[in-house]
Formats: sequence, structure tokens, C-alpha cells
Amino acid sequence: MTANQTLHSGGCLCGAVRFSASGDPIGGNHCHCAMCRKDSGSGVSTFVTFPTNAVTWNGTPTDYESSPNRFRGFCPKCGSSLTWRDGGSAESIDLRLGSFDDPTPFKATKHLWMSTALPGFVELDPDIDHFDQRS
Ligand SMILES: [Zn+2]
Ligand SMILES: [Zn+2]
Repeated sequence: MTANQTLHSGGCLCGAVRFSASGDPIGGNHCHCAMCRKDSGSGVSTFVTFPTNAVTWNGTPTDYESSPNRFRGFCPKCGSSLTWRDGGSAESIDLRLGSFDDPTPFKATKHLWMSTALPGFVELDPDIDHFDQRS
């Protein structure tokens, strides 16, 4: 990490788990899958993807293995959902957009799991790529 790289800070609702992501994200998505709905309690989940080694942690999210080798990280104290990661692909991690202190610099570039999208959320940003499942 070089000194002039932008740092994007964030964390959970209670502050027990904080993170800092350096540089630019490598992607962003709106996920419409049923597990993200359960995890977040909302109709669609928006994630910002960073290289795993660009993210440093202060406090440790607890991992929940929601499907084989797929992990969702949450604060063990307040329960805020923070991350999604593929245990078989260590290069990147998805951070929930809403967990950033300033989410305004980020954009989603694709919609995932449109095959299970709720009718009321299908038209969310029609100008970016839509995928029936994962991209
Ligand atoms: Zn917390
Ligand atoms: Zn999802």
C-alpha cells in the first residue's frame, strides 16, 4: 500500500468491527439472491468488491458458512452483516456497501441472481449488466 492510495473506512453498527479498504474496488454488484435477502433483511444487497489484501481489519467478523465454502461475515456483537466471500477464491472479498462510512464513491456494475429477483426490485438500474445467477 502506498501513502497516496485512497482509504475507504467502514464497519459495523456498534463499531466493534472496523475495516479499511485501500485503493479502488475491482467491482460492485446488486445481489438479488434469496440468501442475501435473509442475511440482510432487505430486498436487494449491494456489495463492493476489493482485493482481499487491500482490506485491513480492526476487530474480526464472525463467519457464517451459508453454503459450502461461501462465507458471510458479521459483527459478533451487533450482528451487522459485513462481508461475503468465496472460500475457494482468496483474491477478493465483497464488502456490504452500507457498511462503508462514506458509500458515495462506489457504483454497482452488475445485477446478480436476477432469476430470483423480487418483482418490485427488477427495474433497479436497468443500464448495467443483469445475470440470471452469478456472473
Ligand atoms: Zn458491531
Ligand atoms: Zn446474494
